[in-house]
Amino acid sequence: MIGVKLISIHGLSLTKEMGVGRWEVRVKSGVKEKQNLVVVKVGGSLVRSPKDYVKVSEILVRDILEKSRAAIVVSAIKGITDLLISICNGDREALDKVIETHRRFSRELGITGPYSDHVGALEEEVVRYSAMCRESMIHRDRVLSIGERFSVIALAKTLSDMGLRVRIAWPWDVGIITDDRFGDASPKVPDIYEDIGASVRKIIDSGYIPVIPGFIGVTKDGYITTMGRGSSDLTAVLIARATMSSKAILLTETPGIMTTDPKIVPGAYTVEVMDFVEGERASRYSVKGLNYKMFEHVWDYDGEIHILDLSMRGTKICRECRREGAKVIAPFAGGISVIGWGSGKVVKTAVGKNPMNGSNIELRDEVETLVLSKADPVELVRIIHKEVFGR
Ligand code: ASP
Ligand code: MG
Repeated sequence: MIGVKLISIHGLSLTKEMGVGRWEVRVKSGVKEKQNLVVVKVGGSLVRSPKDYVKVSEILVRDILEKSRAAIVVSAIKGITDLLISICNGDREALDKVIETHRRFSRELGITGPYSDHVGALEEEVVRYSAMCRESMIHRDRVLSIGERFSVIALAKTLSDMGLRVRIAWPWDVGIITDDRFGDASPKVPDIYEDIGASVRKIIDSGYIPVIPGFIGVTKDGYITTMGRGSSDLTAVLIARATMSSKAILLTETPGIMTTDPKIVPGAYTVEVMDFVEGERASRYSVKGLNYKMFEHVWDYDGEIHILDLSMRGTKICRECRREGAKVIAPFAGGISVIGWGSGKVVKTAVGKNPMNGSNIELRDEVETLVLSKADPVELVRIIHKEVFGR
């Protein structure tokens, strides 16, 4: 490890040259060994039809499970969380849609036996709690949890049909304990790392693949919580950190993080490598595919995060992946943000070449530069993207 050691508390050391703020704090190597384990998350965008569970499972086997020991985290079927939220906002039809969708998936995936009893129980649960979830956040989270709880069964069933030994690991089995901020709960890190690590590894060591629902946790009193939209990424990185996995792969529909939204700039392309500091900053602008809470809570994860599509193309984010240069351009009301180490220099050059009326460059720090302007941020993104990335 390079850098000047500044302080040392509870096995953590702070080094001077490693990054900004608390990103400088990292787990001292040797406290626990990094494991040759992979945590892979299947995003909801990848499961739109029953056949998708089969397709994704085949890819998981071929590209990941045959090569490494792994744990799997899964999101709800695309659109289900939205419907569950609608139910609790008083939309009666949404309940029928959820039930109909889950029944159709069960039928087409041939879910039978104990799995099917479980699916039946979930249906009863969503009906019962939907009547109360408008008033109570506790009941609302119970309803919202149904999507991931169904999906984990669908994926486990598909993988076990393919001959794999899988075991569903519920948050209450492996200790994904959160606070009781229903709807936006946070995992009780670092206290829960040890328990989660031991329970998940135990399943793997006994020859099974743990399949874990993303997005949900449980309070110490046993109430189901949800951790906010998109937080199945947080679950995956949490499991990766707790098991000391070398890699967390977040599988999604798009090939990783793009230089900017391709709807704004068709020539936008995948950023190959970013470091954690850049990743965290990008996540604050809800850059597609990046959940802010995974950086906020599991900032001491020391492995790699890969955000990949089904052909395994995408972005690698890791602590020691610092490289100079702009990585991502994100618009916001009032301007744009250019994220990347040393982005200030490139932005100054770009703006210098394109005098834009009343625009102001604000160096936030070494890793982020803002261009504040009254101009249309979308137009601004196009101009700066062209200058910085050449397209
Ligand atoms: N299903 C949840 C959502 O739609 C969690 C996730 O997909 O990450 O927000
Ligand atoms: Mg997501």
